Amino acid sequence: MTSPTTTNGPAAPNAAPAADPDATAAANADPSAATVLTGPADLDQGIRDDPAAHRVLTGDRPTGPLHLGHYFGSLRNRVHLQRLGVEMFLVIPDYQVITDRDLADHLAEHTENLVVDYLATGIDADRATIFTHSSVPALNQLLLPFLSLVSVAELHRNPTVKDEIAHSSQAAVNGLMLTYPVHQAADILFCKADLVPVGKDQLPHLEIARTVARRFNERYPHPDGTTVFPRPRALLSAAPLLLGTDGGKMSKSRGNSVPLAADEDTTARLLKGARTDTERRIGYDPVGRPEVSNLLLLAGLCQDRAPEEIAEEIGDGGAAALKRTVTEAVNEHLRPIRARRAELAADRGHIRQVLRTGSERANAIADATLTEVRAVMGSL
Ligand code: ATP
Ligand code: MG
Repeated sequence: MTSPTTTNGPAAPNAAPAADPDATAAANADPSAATVLTGPADLDQGIRDDPAAHRVLTGDRPTGPLHLGHYFGSLRNRVHLQRLGVEMFLVIPDYQVITDRDLADHLAEHTENLVVDYLATGIDADRATIFTHSSVPALNQLLLPFLSLVSVAELHRNPTVKDEIAHSSQAAVNGLMLTYPVHQAADILFCKADLVPVGKDQLPHLEIARTVARRFNERYPHPDGTTVFPRPRALLSAAPLLLGTDGGKMSKSRGNSVPLAADEDTTARLLKGARTDTERRIGYDPVGRPEVSNLLLLAGLCQDRAPEEIAEEIGDGGAAALKRTVTEAVNEHLRPIRARRAELAADRGHIRQVLRTGSERANAIADATLTEVRAVMGSL
């Protein structure tokens, strides 16, 4: 297996300068470490020329069915990168479920359904490594030295963690909630991934992973001066923060999502209940009219059209016409994915085999990285 370079690839044409290595960056969701990827033209020439020199890691918590936010925020980019020839790692972070709740309900079912969704949306199981975090024990060994590289103040400042605490069903914040971004750094760095297609809420976590990589490399270089870890880069999509039906971030756990697997009537009902505003004329204005603009963006993404053009067509039709348009666009776009999904869901044996194979492969790579980490740290 070829290992990707441990330095970052060349900067994307639309990427801002490299992130400030200041310690506080971890809390500030520095967008300079992110590239917006809306199509092949946005990709670095370097990735297109040599996809085998890069590696993607990303994943989804097994807390419920994947929704439109996942699909347009991250999944489509994953498929796109894999088709280009970039190696794909998908972690299902099962321990992360218990950051904001006491018990992980329906864990096996949710985990299998994530795999079904990945394959239905176009991930090629033969070329991807799909695994659960809990099946790769070496990840948790990497966590310990990594925890020593971030301060408690940095963990407390993370805005996504603060938001998740605000929405948590637990009375007290547990230690895992505060530290899971570091455990996510281990999930990314164990396979030396340098590209992470994610939604906007993940930027603070990516900044922590970048900080961990940088500090580890500075503290523990190889004797010949080379370093162990790349500094991973976030890849955002044209929908880095898709809103749910209540106007907040669409989330599996917040009862505001439109699941990929929903049937067409359910999709229509959910979108009919989406929050809009009272202005009759439909216009695309993400800052002034976020909910209406979100629906226009959704229709635009499904039809590969500009949201402004769709707004123009609806004109004075009001929210009801907008919702009809979006519903048709979503159902039409998802029809083939939903049909594939139904076929894949019928073969649970295959889904479990995909996870077993992924886990074996992830364990071999994690063990090798842990051996390297222990060597540079001087462990016997
Ligand atoms: P939960 O409510 O359980 O936290 P979630 O919907 O937030 O679920 P995650 O599993 O936490 O989903 O996130 C998986 C990936 O999907 C991350 O990369 C995240 O940034 C992305 N993502 C989640 N929600 C959205 C959204 N509304 N818009 C864009 N990307 C999203
Ligand atoms: Mg989440």
